[in-house]
Amino acid sequence: MFALVDANNMYVSCERVFQPRLCGRPVVVLSSNDGACIARSNEAKDLGVKMAQPWFQVRHLERSAGLLAVSANFELYGDMSSRMMAVVARFAPRQEVYSIDESFLDFDGVRGDLVGIGRDLRATVLMETGLPTSVGFGPTKTLAKLANHIAKTADRKPGSYPGHLSQVCNLVTLSEADRLKAFAATEVGNVWGVGRKIGARLVEGGVRTVLDLVRCDVATLRRQFSVVLEKTVLELRGTSCLSMDEAPAAKQQILVSRSFGKAVTDVAGIVEAVSEFASRAAESLRLQEGAAGAINVFFTTSPFRQNDRQHSPSVTVPLIRPTSDSRHLVGAAVAAVHRLFRPGFNYVKAGVMLVDLQPAGQRQGKLDLFSVVSDAAGERPERDRSALMATMDELNRRFGRSSVHIGSASTSAHDTDERSWATRQERRSPRFTTRWDEMPMVRA
Ligand SMILES: [Mg+2]
Repeated sequence: MFALVDANNMYVSCERVFQPRLCGRPVVVLSSNDGACIARSNEAKDLGVKMAQPWFQVRHLERSAGLLAVSANFELYGDMSSRMMAVVARFAPRQEVYSIDESFLDFDGVRGDLVGIGRDLRATVLMETGLPTSVGFGPTKTLAKLANHIAKTADRKPGSYPGHLSQVCNLVTLSEADRLKAFAATEVGNVWGVGRKIGARLVEGGVRTVLDLVRCDVATLRRQFSVVLEKTVLELRGTSCLSMDEAPAAKQQILVSRSFGKAVTDVAGIVEAVSEFASRAAESLRLQEGAAGAINVFFTTSPFRQNDRQHSPSVTVPLIRPTSDSRHLVGAAVAAVHRLFRPGFNYVKAGVMLVDLQPAGQRQGKLDLFSVVSDAAGERPERDRSALMATMDELNRRFGRSSVHIGSASTSAHDTDERSWATRQERRSPRFTTRWDEMPMVRA
């Protein structure tokens, strides 16, 4: 049995925890350089603001509808994410962090009222972090994802699904008839693993809802689409094909993490692992022609080694400007490790997550002409390294992974932080939870 726990409108919710003036009003979070809406409150969704819609297209709603916009604050979101994940992890024997605001829990062998546990989990996360979440339970990961979608939608749009499925939904406890009704009420594009392209092709072929999809012949789907879609349908029918730590890639971030063969106790070991993960993440990023605005780095001890002291640091570092350059990404990751590492712990797992992803093309604006990077030699104009990166990727493809890699890193945490002015973030909120001088003030 799996659960998927997902924060509702994560970035907006993080902002609201510290700025009550944003509650109950339409709010959007803008990407770095304040170009596009990357998160929307329910009220903003109701105004018709679309995901990734350019800010200039909706700006008029500031006056006409009271729309509020804030600049993305990934340092805050990353920290809130680790707090939320730590609370969620207490509720099941195993957790798989899937994205900045989603994690799967493995409830195998757990008895009792799962919906009750889900409500308790939800209330605890809300109390300890201020973040509202939705919880979906299902016998497969794809069904847990679907249950989560139902829980969230039932909460946001009363009438879309039966009210008792709102916030926490367990598909297993539904009667067969109710389950089919829920399947029939869900568009096929909302299924995990069905992308926009495949979704459109399915609809063209008359497969509009989840119910239509589960009734398809899997052999035909495999022939006309892919093995992946076949697996998805099997999962929707209750046959588990994806175990923990096995999942299609999330769309809005790139996560590379791994458990170590044996515990790592020295900073050099963590640096080595994190450098490799950052390089690999950068490679995937370039493959999808994207750029990242921030990088999250984490490493952790094992909660199962109960005699060990526990330490699970995590930090999200905003980059000078969005990049897919391995040197910058590895540099920022390594600097973060040095900032977080403490001796005396047995670390068993590390990872790197690239967030605030955007198309690489967007970077070629006016800003690029004047932008500079700092290195040991001081400031100098940034040279275009895309040819170098392409060559590196080609060599690694031909001669095997990591044939060519980044040997040293020049970006320090100090640089990336102090110089974040290079990214336009006129409306960024304070980094409430990670900076002493930006802590919230209470006047009594
Ligand atoms: Mg979410």
